[in-house]
Amino acid sequence: MNNVIIIGSGCAGLTAAIYTGRANLKPMVIDGHEPGGQLAITTMVENFPGFPDGILGPDLIDNMRKQAQRFGAEFKSGAITDVDLSKRPFKITAGNETYETRALIVASGATARLLGLESERKLIGYGVSTCATCDGYFFRGKEIAVVGGGDSAMEEANFLSRFASRVYLVHRRNEFRASKIMIDRTRANEKIQFLTPVVVEEISDVSKGGVENMTLRNAETNQASTLPVSGIFIAIGHLPNTKVFRGKLDMDENGYLITRYGSQTKIPGVFAAGDVQDHHYKQAVTAAGSGCMAAIDAEKFLEMRADV
Ligand code: NAP
Repeated sequence: MNNVIIIGSGCAGLTAAIYTGRANLKPMVIDGHEPGGQLAITTMVENFPGFPDGILGPDLIDNMRKQAQRFGAEFKSGAITDVDLSKRPFKITAGNETYETRALIVASGATARLLGLESERKLIGYGVSTCATCDGYFFRGKEIAVVGGGDSAMEEANFLSRFASRVYLVHRRNEFRASKIMIDRTRANEKIQFLTPVVVEEISDVSKGGVENMTLRNAETNQASTLPVSGIFIAIGHLPNTKVFRGKLDMDENGYLITRYGSQTKIPGVFAAGDVQDHHYKQAVTAAGSGCMAAIDAEKFLEMRADV
């Protein structure tokens, strides 16, 4: 029987592990299918407080993991396949293993949707990014592209126009999912040029380890073209990792967990932290902050409910 199980080992999960570890709760962390979360696939992180020269995402997450281990956190690999939250202790199944726990912190994150190109996967962190707030600063004075036609793409294109000399907004249709106000604001921005209806076919140059251009195909004329850019921001949405909680925890229409009074879900003893319950801020530092909140809430819950 565990005091607390933490699902997910990104910034939120590891911060929850550090806090519950220091509270002597001997947390168990189940890694999930993306150990380390989104920081593990980032390169330089310059906006996490405390690192004036920046720190590599994988190093930051590795430090957090060591810090959690120092305070007694135990790590298990494996993705969660089922949860039984109908009664306490909760039962958490990862493949062939089932664990029991008095409290649960869900920090399973959200996965940025990608286009699915091999070159895109290879160049993530090397010119291809899914986070304008994190990486925009690296593209000062450069020409870059944002892919997508929703509010995120519009917001990121506007944000990136503060740094880049030109931003191409690349979208596969002539119609946009984004709200009118966001489209109007983006169209009024002189630094942003719309390219539609175009599909991204390839990102080059993997052999040089960086982004030099993208191959686009016009969806109406079928004509291919090459667009020279130094960076590409993929803004085609995120998928919260909440499949196993469907019908068990409250979610919004996009599948994000709904929390109240800090990190509480509708089930007493189940808490949520990080991007799995945040589609707005999505930052390492806000995920860490909410991991801390969930740990404190879980600790208080266990203190008050010694019977559990
Ligand atoms: P979204 O609204 O789902 O838009 C995703 C966009 O990516 C769509 O334009 C879609 O194209 C495109 N896309 C999806 N898969 C693609 C693929 N494989 N290849 C190329 N393009 C692809 O996602 P979002 O923009 O992240 O927004 C999510 C939610 O957050 C929305 O409710 C949005 O309003 C909200 N949000 C609000 C704000 C704000 O109000 N300031 C800011 C950000 C987000 P199609 O349209 O052709 O399917």
